[in-house]
Amino acid sequence: MSLALTVISLGAGVQSSTMALMAARGEIGPMPDCAIFADTGWESSRVYEWLDWLETQLPFTVIRASRLGLDLGNLSVGVASGAVPLKGSSLPPFFTAGPDGMRPKQCSKEFKTRVIGREVRRMLGVAPGKRGPKGKVVEQWLGISFDEMSRCKDAEQAFTTNRFPLVELRMRRQDCLGWIAERQYPTPPRSSCIFCPYRTNNEWRDLRDNTPSDWDKAVAFDHEIRRGFPGMTGAQFVHRQRVPLDKADLSTHAERGQIEFGFLQECDGMCGV
Ligand code: SF4
Repeated sequence: MSLALTVISLGAGVQSSTMALMAARGEIGPMPDCAIFADTGWESSRVYEWLDWLETQLPFTVIRASRLGLDLGNLSVGVASGAVPLKGSSLPPFFTAGPDGMRPKQCSKEFKTRVIGREVRRMLGVAPGKRGPKGKVVEQWLGISFDEMSRCKDAEQAFTTNRFPLVELRMRRQDCLGWIAERQYPTPPRSSCIFCPYRTNNEWRDLRDNTPSDWDKAVAFDHEIRRGFPGMTGAQFVHRQRVPLDKADLSTHAERGQIEFGFLQECDGMCGV
């Protein structure tokens, strides 16, 4: 069966940006029909600036799509204030204290994977709630690099085949940065929500030192989600030390002789690339 659509799942980080630029230069084929960026509304300002630039370099359309209703940040704050019911909300994996734990991660599937899936269905003309086409008619490219290939997964929709061009080319994240530098493109940022609990201390420091307005927003957000949800004992935090973000010790795990904790350990492949 011939393909109806070839789409890039564009996280707007290092790997998916490299993949999109390689496609634009004909180094990966066939030329995609479009790239889809699932916008949680809370990426760093550097990611939005990067995306604006990237669009000017690509010969195919970049579609910015969002989940209907509240964005991820406002949903999280709404649940914490009691204004939005917890049931059915798809929240980030915040750290909880009293008892210590971590909330399940529901956000990336609802705010990234399914947003792109819905956009693909719209492009195919499939009405909400209706069955999609028979056979594999969509190829979706994901920017997962060879060093992160444990994140490769099948598509949720039966008519979509996921493809991982960077894995096919055995390109690691560092190779992507090298490819970008050799062609004298600017360096892409790491993509993720500014409040994402999967940030390493290095990344928190980078946010604090290089984009202070995003840092201030993350600190304010962390304060606003403290209550967790009505009936919850204890409190929730964006930082794993379970202290207010602006009070966290941001020395790196490496500096303290511990293992770094980041996207690879927990994310299902749609965030951070
Ligand atoms: S970047 Fe983090 S908070 Fe944002 S959608 Fe992905 S896992 Fe959730």
